[in-house]
Amino acid sequence: MPAKLGEILLKQKLITREQLQQAIDYQMSRGGRLGRALVELGFVTDDDVTAALSRQYGLPAANLNELEVDPNVIKLIPMETALKHQVLPVNRVGSSLTLVMADPTNVFAMDDVKFMTGFYVEPLVASETAIIEAIRKHYGSAEDVERKREIDDLVSFIEDDGAGSLELEAEEEGTLDLASLEKAAEEAPVIKLVNYILTDAVRQGASDIHMEPYEKEYRIRYRVDGLLQNVMNPPLKLRDAITSRVKIMAKLDIAEKRLPQDGRIMMKMMHHNKKKQLDLRVSVLPTLHGEKIVMRLLDKENLRLDMAKLGFEPESLEKFQKAILKPYGMVLVTGPTGSGKTNTLYSSIAQLNKEDTNIMTAEDPVEFQLPGINQVQMKEQIGLNFATALRAFLRQDPNIILVGEIRDFETAEIAIKAALTGHLVLSTLHTNDAPSTISRLMNMGIEPFLVATSVHLICAQRLVRRLCLNCKVEDRLAHEALLDAGFTPEEARNARVYKAGTGCEACNKRGYKGRVGLYEVMEITDAIRELILVGASAIELRRKAIEEGMITLRRSGCIKVLSGVTSVEEIMRETVL
Ligand SMILES: [Zn+2]
Repeated sequence: MPAKLGEILLKQKLITREQLQQAIDYQMSRGGRLGRALVELGFVTDDDVTAALSRQYGLPAANLNELEVDPNVIKLIPMETALKHQVLPVNRVGSSLTLVMADPTNVFAMDDVKFMTGFYVEPLVASETAIIEAIRKHYGSAEDVERKREIDDLVSFIEDDGAGSLELEAEEEGTLDLASLEKAAEEAPVIKLVNYILTDAVRQGASDIHMEPYEKEYRIRYRVDGLLQNVMNPPLKLRDAITSRVKIMAKLDIAEKRLPQDGRIMMKMMHHNKKKQLDLRVSVLPTLHGEKIVMRLLDKENLRLDMAKLGFEPESLEKFQKAILKPYGMVLVTGPTGSGKTNTLYSSIAQLNKEDTNIMTAEDPVEFQLPGINQVQMKEQIGLNFATALRAFLRQDPNIILVGEIRDFETAEIAIKAALTGHLVLSTLHTNDAPSTISRLMNMGIEPFLVATSVHLICAQRLVRRLCLNCKVEDRLAHEALLDAGFTPEEARNARVYKAGTGCEACNKRGYKGRVGLYEVMEITDAIRELILVGASAIELRRKAIEEGMITLRRSGCIKVLSGVTSVEEIMRETVL
């Protein structure tokens, strides 16, 4: 009977009896092995545990940080089994498999592995913590390797086959015939590659797919949680086959290569063992080196209609709700593209959508279809723009009107007229913060008294990434840095702030998972109204609004940093002080 781990560590004077007892109590309450408890309590290092285990069982210790692991050997055992038994297969010689184990007396684990792989098991020991970490590392990268191999296979298959590759020179001469384009786009491997790109984007939670031709390369990028990342570089000669394939799927003209085109792809795919309807908005734009395609993935499941979950601070949400429940007046949501404005507006109308209310929307494009709402798609080519749609709406007995965006005097003028004649008008503007929206409207040519009387509330917003709760780590920023970021001296003294960790399985190794909104809600109070009427600047309006309790975008960010939702880095990138 080998000596117990605790006894060995005691004998080596690495721990005291007291510490051992503490670790046993800790282990009882949390589960796991004694070694892990000792490490987590900081009594010993992971290497101490591994060395002690090696003595305890008389087996060699595995240094998992330095041990080279064959990816093909990793594949012999599924990750679930590895985690369940806390084992990691590292090497294979003849008929035996070297298996790193936290508990080499676990005969069930050895039997399982033997049965599964057909190899005899040669155990090595390492601590539970080291094994779990190594499992995450190796299986994670094995997945990446697998993914890369899948893509390489597809691409090389297309190349070997000669399919998809077209003579680029021919096209530049303008002699490339349609028939060969069509044929290339319909080759099975090209179809497979494009389908792979689309479904992979869904798996990765991307919001957009970019397919970009450059002089010497072709690049595919996904936008995930607001940031673009490179996913693959198919050979440049596949450019036309891929482009044509996407255009066929989006029902676009594959012969037209000189003008921008817009289309839509609807397809079904399996996701998490469920059939999922995929809806993509496709935009094709001729660039210097060929057509660039951007596909926006419209996922109804990502649309959050519950306003309480968007990230508003309670006092800001209360003001916003009060404004949209008024029967008339204008509520404006502002921010750059991709700041979640549409989501906020959709949540608002979803909440107001009742049998006794007529809601009309003018959108470009209609991103999501909401039952019970009269949604109109703008068609600039035939003269159906926001202004003409608004004019027509007023003859349709509306209660609530949503205008996709106010970008010119004409639209602003009719929207304001509607707001002043008993309609609730919701719209968006591209401005950086709530106070500057007032000046923007006036710069468009709207009289101050019209702005002051029609606009009830302005909400500026941004999206920041949420830290992965599973792997975030404490961010030990200097007191001054926190003050500079806008925290109060007291917060800077006591705050515990977090930053992204190195990433884990839960967040696809990104350190962040999902996004949350920051909101700056400015109510047009009497005091603000007076300032607008005397032509006050955005700075003066801002000062007044803060005095009256407005939470600014940066403050909204600080609040979310203090609650551990996001990092200082994120709010610094998305907001100004
Ligand atoms: Zn994580």
